[in-house]
Parts: sequence; C-alpha cells; structure tokens
Amino acid sequence: MAYVVAAPEIVSLPVSGSADRFPVRRVFCVGRNYEAHAKEMGFTGREPPFFFLKPAEAVVPVPAGSVGEIAYPSLTKDLHHEIELVVAIGTGGRDIAVADAASHIYGYAVGLDMTRRDLQGEMKKQGRPWCIGKAFEQSAPIGPVTPIAQCGELTKGAISLTVNGAARQASDVSMLIWSVNEVIAHLSTAWVLAPGDLIMTGTPEGVAAVVRGDRMHGEIAGLGALDVVVR
Ligand code: MN
Repeated sequence: MAYVVAAPEIVSLPVSGSADRFPVRRVFCVGRNYEAHAKEMGFTGREPPFFFLKPAEAVVPVPAGSVGEIAYPSLTKDLHHEIELVVAIGTGGRDIAVADAASHIYGYAVGLDMTRRDLQGEMKKQGRPWCIGKAFEQSAPIGPVTPIAQCGELTKGAISLTVNGAARQASDVSMLIWSVNEVIAHLSTAWVLAPGDLIMTGTPEGVAAVVRGDRMHGEIAGLGALDVVVR
C-alpha cells in the first residue's frame, strides 16, 4: 500500500535520561487557569475549565541544552508568550477520576503557548473560534519530557519566563485554578484521552509581546529550562 500524497511525519519530543522519544498525538490547551492571568485578560478567575487544541505539527521540540527557534508568524503584530507546564499522557482513558489521573501521566515538560493575541482578540470579540490566534505553525515550542517516574507527581514549583534576561512571568504551579489531575478528569469527559496526548495547563500572569530577535527563557522547578529565539 502506498499513500497518494506524502504522509505526515510523527512529531516527537526528547525524553530526559533516554534515547527514546515521546510521540505527540494531540495538543490540548487549558484557557485561563491561573487567577491572576484570568484577571489580566478581563475575567474573574472563577469559571469552569475550558479547552482548545493545537495540531501536533505546531510543536517545536527543543532538546535539552539547545536553543529552539521559531519564525515570527504571519498576520499578527502582537505575538505573545505564555509559559506553561505541559503534561504528557502515557495511558489513555475516558471519564478518568481525579484520584486516578496521575496514573495516566507519562511525564511533564516546559512549553510555550505562543499566541497571535491580536487575532485571538478579534475572534473573541466576534464569538468565533480561536484557531487563527492559537493553532498556527511553531506555536508550541516544548522542551524534553521528564518521566513522572523520575520527578514524581508535580503539584508545586516555581514557573517563570524571562525575555532577554528581563522578568516577564513568575508564579508557582500550585497556583493552578484547576490542578493537573482535575484537568485530566475534565478533559477525559469530553475526549477519550490517548497515549501521546499533551496538555498545556495554562499560563500565569505577565503575558506580553515578543519581537524578532527576542530570546525567551522559561523554567519550571524540577523540569529544567526552555530557551527559544524568535527569528
Ligand atoms: Mn495558554
């Protein structure tokens, strides 16, 4: 059997301490999951979790110790950084209980939910889908996956982002409105989760624009760093 057009390659992330890789299936994202960020976007911070998706091909894998590169995307004049804890699903399921959620996690990574904020804002105003603001090429630079077997369940720890060395975002994973396990439980009522799925769990306050030449440096305690330059 041959495919009639070129088949897409499987996007994959490096795995800390292993030569094997984590294959990416889907990228789920949680909106407004830190109270101070929800407030800076004009909301109360008390709403139920909600979700959007990026295609797997939006992922830019950034190996440990290297600097990832993304091209400044088309159409926007307001490209924003959103530093986020990324959860890598190891075993799938539907209607997963909060108490069982951690057993479905393969590991964690540091990621950036890059956002064409001006386009997202226009779609919000018109009540239209966010795809054009969120789901574009190279919109999800992500570092290596650290297996939960190595780092343990991650429920707290500093999360931060600097741009050209200047502080932009700083919070703690314990400030998530909906915890990782609650997010997995909610998501699995709407989609059947599968091995290879990634979940970007939301960004803390301090989102702002980057321009060509800017270097972003993200860190989450226990997971290391993610460095990305905008070209
Ligand atoms: Mn986000």
